[in-house]
Amino acid sequence: MHPLNDHTIIHMLKELGVYVTQNRVAVLKVFLQCPGAISISRIRKLSAIKLDRVSVYRTLQAFVEKNLILIVPNARGKPHYILKASPGLAHQNGAAFFICACCGDSELLPDTVKINHNHLPGHHLVKSQYLVLEGFCQKCQHQHPPHSVS
Ligand SMILES: [Zn+2]
Repeated sequence: MHPLNDHTIIHMLKELGVYVTQNRVAVLKVFLQCPGAISISRIRKLSAIKLDRVSVYRTLQAFVEKNLILIVPNARGKPHYILKASPGLAHQNGAAFFICACCGDSELLPDTVKINHNHLPGHHLVKSQYLVLEGFCQKCQHQHPPHSVS
């Protein structure tokens, strides 16, 4: 693992061709400390410096453009973001995530998913594939008994 000092992070950003700002260093640090996919509000909570929503959003946009992170969609319209170099994502497509719809916790699942591309409608060209499973994590389940999942 990387030693997580600012110097290392600044070096990583430079290597990736990302213009270095204090916000970008702070956000990348959160990603490196947090395996799995995270939401903007969680990034703000975990950041060492105070960041407003817009700053985080802009930082994430820059990271997406540089192919550093991946947007993990979910049904509630609150996207999560994951570092592309995360273990499990680095070498393979078909990574699967579980995201808790209550607290937003997420984790990368040990299984990968294979989809037969011959069954896709039309002539779509698949470049990458990820599966998102949504539900309630163990600690949120008592607030959301199984029958409330629609
Ligand atoms: Zn939860």
